[in-house]
Amino acid sequence: MKQSFLVINKETKVATEYEYNWVNHGMLRRLHERKEKNEITIQCACSDNVTLSVSVKSNPFLYPSTKKHKHKDDCIRHSNNTNRSDYEKGWNYDEDKGLHIVNLEKLVIAPSASKEEDNNKKTIYRKTNNASTVSKVQYETTMLGFVAKLNMMAWENSVQGYEPKTPDRYELLRKIYGVAGRIRLKGKKKTFNEMFYKYKSIREVKVNKEISFVYMYVDESRPITQEKPLPDGTEKVALNCIDSFKKTRKFYIDKEEFQTKIENEPHSDRYVVAGYAYKANLYHRLLSLTSYAVIPVTKEGLYCESHHEKEHYEKLCDEGVRFFKPYLPLPEYGNFIPDGYIVNGNNEKPTIFEIFGIHNNEDYDKRKSEKKNAVLDPRFQEKYTHYFLER
Ligand SMILES: [Zn+2]
Repeated sequence: MKQSFLVINKETKVATEYEYNWVNHGMLRRLHERKEKNEITIQCACSDNVTLSVSVKSNPFLYPSTKKHKHKDDCIRHSNNTNRSDYEKGWNYDEDKGLHIVNLEKLVIAPSASKEEDNNKKTIYRKTNNASTVSKVQYETTMLGFVAKLNMMAWENSVQGYEPKTPDRYELLRKIYGVAGRIRLKGKKKTFNEMFYKYKSIREVKVNKEISFVYMYVDESRPITQEKPLPDGTEKVALNCIDSFKKTRKFYIDKEEFQTKIENEPHSDRYVVAGYAYKANLYHRLLSLTSYAVIPVTKEGLYCESHHEKEHYEKLCDEGVRFFKPYLPLPEYGNFIPDGYIVNGNNEKPTIFEIFGIHNNEDYDKRKSEKKNAVLDPRFQEKYTHYFLER
């Protein structure tokens, strides 16, 4: 599959290839300047006819210069591209606006609305049962898949962005808000950051009507507190969360549901909670969380899928190594998604790394040996260096 574009020097006719998914804002701004000076042309790798321009609004992006020519079927920018990795299922990209469109699972307003069958496995997408689209497979991302990807996008944006740096955990929360400004829910007009939770007095919130999106850290020193009973005697439990201003915010949760989610992700003592908040009852003193996901994170707030990942990511941060956790496959790496991608290593080329930590699992061992073969590919070696850690 084609997932790159070409920058052609008008004088020398030399073409340089870059991947859409790994181009950073600083580079896009430079391309914009060079294009303004008429030094270069930019075109998609799928076709000479698809020429591109750079928009340099707050978040720079590439868009097609004319509507006359369409991307080829095997191009990542083709609108019906279905050959996607798991983290792309349920996602689309609006080239003209530079917006990600996400088909996020429907919000169900009810306490403990999480789908039972998903509680014990890490489902990041589902096939949707839409009768009108029988011929075409459609996907939706689960809240877990959405939140994990939002986290990885924001981290990458910080590490690869205009002023590249490894964020601290609160800077990352602010980045999340920024990245959400480039995401729109399918069928909605506003960008996703406009749904973000803003504090207001509970008395002013309309019951079941005002729904906001919460993305905060669980206060690990005191995650759960027993609240005063409601006037009708109902006992309530609250989750203590910390927002980007380091303020504690409390939300009603179902204690058992929360504990199940934590038990499924035992490899960190730090968590992000993200999902919808609403006022469930006129007498409630707090908003309730629903359709929410809990993801384990490092001390800097990066999503980690295992204890080994957490340990290694934190070590790299301590050593000042700038890296991100990719969510898209690398074509030169057998279309695998590595555990990490180091931007500023000691080598001239970027470094990808894997942490092999699962033993005696046939599928895992098979993938492991495929990955070990993939790095022998000359196309890989030309572009990357790598290291594999065996744990
Ligand atoms: Zn194309």
